[in-house]
Amino acid sequence: MNNLVWFRNDLRIRNNTSLAKACSGNKVMGVYCFNPTYFSIGDYGFKKTERFRARFLIETIIQLKDNLRKLNIPLFVYVDNPEKRIPKFIHEHGIQNVFLQKEWTRDENKVRNAVIAKVSSSVNFEESYDQFLFHPDDIPYVSFQQIPKIFTEFRKKCEIYTKVRPVLESPMVRPENNLVENNTVVPSLQDLGLSNFSIDTRTAFPFKGGETNAKKRIEEYFWETKKLAFYKKTRNGLVGQGYSSKLSPWLANGSISARTIYWEVKEFESTVKKNQDTYWLVFELIWRDFFKYVSLKHGNQIFRIEGILNKKYDWKTSKKITEHWISGQTEDPFINANMQEIARTGWMSNRGRQNVASFWSRVLEQDWRIGAAYFESMLLDYDVHSNWGNWMYSSGVGNDPRNRIFNSKRQAERYDPNGKFQALWLQETLFKIIFRNSFKQ
Ligand code: FAD
Repeated sequence: MNNLVWFRNDLRIRNNTSLAKACSGNKVMGVYCFNPTYFSIGDYGFKKTERFRARFLIETIIQLKDNLRKLNIPLFVYVDNPEKRIPKFIHEHGIQNVFLQKEWTRDENKVRNAVIAKVSSSVNFEESYDQFLFHPDDIPYVSFQQIPKIFTEFRKKCEIYTKVRPVLESPMVRPENNLVENNTVVPSLQDLGLSNFSIDTRTAFPFKGGETNAKKRIEEYFWETKKLAFYKKTRNGLVGQGYSSKLSPWLANGSISARTIYWEVKEFESTVKKNQDTYWLVFELIWRDFFKYVSLKHGNQIFRIEGILNKKYDWKTSKKITEHWISGQTEDPFINANMQEIARTGWMSNRGRQNVASFWSRVLEQDWRIGAAYFESMLLDYDVHSNWGNWMYSSGVGNDPRNRIFNSKRQAERYDPNGKFQALWLQETLFKIIFRNSFKQ
């Protein structure tokens, strides 16, 4: 049997169901496509993937290729549409089985269907849900339609009835003759139509893509600094590496699995400390699962203006307001500082995201989908379910039973009492204003 792993958002060798399944064959190969569609302009005028996530992805694929090479598994890398490249690849290499992570959102489905349509029906496609903490076959709901609207209800029931599956054994090194000639190379940022850049020294974390770097972050956050033991107390922070786990970019592209993190937390709890803080990291991973189940239940409704609540608001669209929000020139300094941070680094804290999203949709009353699309473009950790789900939640069309509007002034007083975060990101703006004013005098 010639088996192919079609890597998408499961860019790891450890605890990867598709790879483990493929390894039962005589020959195993991997393929990854940098799909040009994901680097083009999207529905709302933003590039779907900006430079921050693109570079992180390139670093991820370099490590994946390297790690697979150590197992004598070749990874073929293309800058091309999968529907063009993969059917050809299957034909040329006599592939009988294709293993891939199951995805269900609009763009991913479209590509998958287009690939399958171009391949002989004798080729078997086997898809596995591998991005969850609680596997869909193990949750206490017989259909996705039963997933509750309220997170707490979902969490409590799953915590009682669902066990997190154990981590799979790492794949064995294959015989050397599994390696076939492979002249494909990982593209550069320029190959993807983007310019090189240097990391802003103020970044909350110097993110580097790849499975090995994800493991390094766990090593540091859990075992070296033991910051996990304080997670709940610090998670609303805004400045620095230690206030939260920073694992989201690796989780989003599957360089690490949520189950691996869960079992590391359990290990920490049994050997170092078990408290509210250690539990809270798992609690947040359940939020991550919840938004995946929301999109499984509601499908494309998550991209519609009425959201999953089917709520009508008088949404506005103003180019000028959009520009001011994006460039951090609103009348609110806390919002501006957060918007500067994302523009310069591709990162924003959870507290910041909640505030700028609420400000955009509830205070400025702008079409929430424009904000979500801007985040999609910029975020290092963009994940279709978490992004669109959280945006709906913040915009009054999703799962928030309280339908809150954040008071960003009060939020700044509470979470940035000394103005340290705002000073960090607004120093240039302040300097410009002071300079301009002194010039006028
Ligand atoms: P930690 O606080 O250390 O949490 C651990 C993990 O739990 C995170 O890595 C993440 O996987 C998960 N998690 C935490 N909070 C949430 C949440 N509210 N929803 C879903 N999962 C959560 N997260 C993304 O991963 N991708 C996105 O595209 C994304 N877009 C967002 C958009 C908005 C408007 C908002 C309000 C939140 C968004 N989030 C998104 C959720 C959250 O802000 C980030 O997951 C978190 O800030 C990442 O930092 P961390 O890894 O240090 O998180």
